Amino acid sequence: MIQKSTEFFRNLPPKTCVDCGKKIREQHESYMNQCEHCLSKVYE
Ligand SMILES: [Zn+2]
Repeated sequence: MIQKSTEFFRNLPPKTCVDCGKKIREQHESYMNQCEHCLSKVYE
Protein backbone atom coordinates (compact mmCIF):
# COMPACT_ATOMS: atom_id res chain seq x y z
CA MET A 1 0.00 0.00 0.00
CA ILE A 2 1.24 3.45 -0.87
CA GLN A 3 0.56 6.30 1.54
CA LYS A 4 0.61 9.94 0.59
CA SER A 5 3.22 11.92 2.46
CA THR A 6 0.51 14.16 3.86
CA GLU A 7 -1.26 11.18 5.35
CA PHE A 8 2.01 9.88 6.72
CA PHE A 9 2.68 13.08 8.64
CA ARG A 10 -0.92 13.25 9.79
CA ASN A 11 -0.53 9.83 11.33
CA LEU A 12 2.46 10.88 13.37
CA PRO A 13 1.51 11.28 17.00
CA PRO A 14 1.71 14.91 18.11
CA LYS A 15 4.24 15.76 20.76
CA THR A 16 2.45 16.12 24.04
CA CYS A 17 3.34 17.46 27.46
CA VAL A 18 4.39 14.71 29.86
CA ASP A 19 2.64 16.58 32.67
CA CYS A 20 -0.77 17.54 31.31
CA GLY A 21 -0.85 15.78 27.94
CA LYS A 22 -1.39 19.03 26.09
CA LYS A 23 -0.05 19.25 22.57
CA ILE A 24 3.28 21.04 22.39
CA ARG A 25 3.65 23.55 19.59
CA GLU A 26 6.65 23.17 17.33
CA GLN A 27 9.17 25.68 18.60
CA HIS A 28 12.89 26.02 19.05
CA GLU A 29 12.33 24.53 22.49
CA SER A 30 10.84 21.43 20.91
CA TYR A 31 13.33 19.24 22.75
CA MET A 32 11.29 19.92 25.86
CA ASN A 33 8.81 17.30 26.96
CA GLN A 34 6.58 19.78 28.77
CA CYS A 35 4.35 22.58 27.56
CA GLU A 36 5.06 26.21 28.36
CA HIS A 37 2.54 26.14 31.19
CA CYS A 38 4.12 23.21 33.01
CA LEU A 39 7.63 24.49 32.30
CA SER A 40 6.76 27.79 33.96
CA LYS A 41 5.57 25.87 37.01
CA VAL A 42 8.90 24.04 37.19
CA TYR A 43 10.95 27.20 37.06
CA GLU A 44 8.92 29.01 39.70
ZN1 LIG B 1 1.76 20.75 30.38
